[in-house]
Amino acid sequence: MAETDTDKDRKEELAAAPSMEPVKGTVEVDIPIDVLWSFFTRADLWPRWNECFLWAKNRDLKWGHQLVWAFHPIRWWYPYYMPAMAKIVELEPKGPERKVTWEVTVLPGFYARHTYHMEDLGNGRTRFGSYEKAMGWSFNLMKSFWIAHFTFVKDRSLEGAKTLEPIYRETGRLDETTVRGDPSRTARGLAMPMAASLALGAAGVGTWFYASFLRQEVVELAPGVRMVMGGGGNTLVVEGTREALLVDTKFPPGANQLRKWVSENVQKPVKHVVSTHYHYDHTLGNDMYPGANRIAHKAVPELMRRNEALQAKLHPLGMANVLVGDEPMRMDLGEREVVLFHPGTAHTGGDLCVWLPKEKILMTGDLFFFTYYPFFDLKQGGANLEGLIRAARKLVATYPDAMVVPGHGPIARTSDLARYADYLQFLQDRVKEGLQQGLDEQQLAKQFNDEISKWGLGILPSFHDNQLTWATSESNVRDAYSLVKQAQAR
Ligand SMILES: [Zn+2]
Repeated sequence: MAETDTDKDRKEELAAAPSMEPVKGTVEVDIPIDVLWSFFTRADLWPRWNECFLWAKNRDLKWGHQLVWAFHPIRWWYPYYMPAMAKIVELEPKGPERKVTWEVTVLPGFYARHTYHMEDLGNGRTRFGSYEKAMGWSFNLMKSFWIAHFTFVKDRSLEGAKTLEPIYRETGRLDETTVRGDPSRTARGLAMPMAASLALGAAGVGTWFYASFLRQEVVELAPGVRMVMGGGGNTLVVEGTREALLVDTKFPPGANQLRKWVSENVQKPVKHVVSTHYHYDHTLGNDMYPGANRIAHKAVPELMRRNEALQAKLHPLGMANVLVGDEPMRMDLGEREVVLFHPGTAHTGGDLCVWLPKEKILMTGDLFFFTYYPFFDLKQGGANLEGLIRAARKLVATYPDAMVVPGHGPIARTSDLARYADYLQFLQDRVKEGLQQGLDEQQLAKQFNDEISKWGLGILPSFHDNQLTWATSESNVRDAYSLVKQAQAR
């Protein structure tokens, strides 16, 4: 099938781009090319034999069509699934050399081409290969992550093709009935979120993935005090006269990017890493600063071990070793004071806020999501709705003219935090009224969905429990319902 001129221009530009060597490889298999190709074109069956794919939508490959799929993370414990979308720009379905190429253009500043190709070796043998190359400023920013990802895709694809060999040898066929895949890997609970992400459309998927995991924006709040947004929870970087302190370290791949930024832009050694709470999207990067004290509220180690057992096991050096109790902890970084204090049980039972008295900067952690629907931790030791409202109001009263760094979202003022407290109060009040009227969760969500949307908050993806979840108006009603009921049961 013919390429268009723009496809061709881009392809040539990419071939000449100095930014990367292609990630490529081939494998030979004892399967005739017709059999392998016709099975290969069933994209929806890729997850059964190719472990880089979590899910794929298309039943066949058509030139000019959009392919829609999701990748497994490059390490199985990394807490993300990456949705992807690409246009098929080359398709050679016949003859002794066949191939399909798609290009990924939905991420800003990112252009990639991926080709799967097959060559007939005669005697029922086929050479199968994978080839990928990318360019663009956002690719360059996260180059090591993307190369690792492409390598993962190539390796899993070649290994996968090899696993088809014995199946073909034993059954003489490759199809839905003979290639069954490993049922333990099927995507439990993924149908809904994937449908939601598809509903956002191509640009939406790319943009939110990029915004959530890749884009980091640095804002200078005062000399020597910077906020690094994105790639997980917000990070605060405070430089003293001899040492630096970080609050919240994100999660991979954002944590790696932050680490790199710190080594290039922070002159003083990082001696203290503070965690605002135990959630992985704020703490998984802790062990990238092995020389630092890891400071958190005293409830955090237990919450980590209980609620994020796998992460705690894989990142033992991320565990806090300096614990803050109910009394504030004052730190002198030389010409700069930092106060850490527990605001009571709010987002979790182990929250810490950070206050810089001279600069009047307050970092709240996730007790404040600014411009987004909040995520509520319903686990034991997790959120307390009443406590959240109380803590937010108290912060507003105590630090009326502070610059506020939220757990997620841009820099805010105290008035924004006050409005957020109003939102939580509204949620709580309506749920309580609904309960009195005997409404269930579903009826409640339906009844005041319109009212909620007036708050104008955005949807925030998160990957708790290794599943893609979304904080939305509906999840907020459901969670508030559970939290109010929990509180009434106490
Ligand atoms: Zn959190």
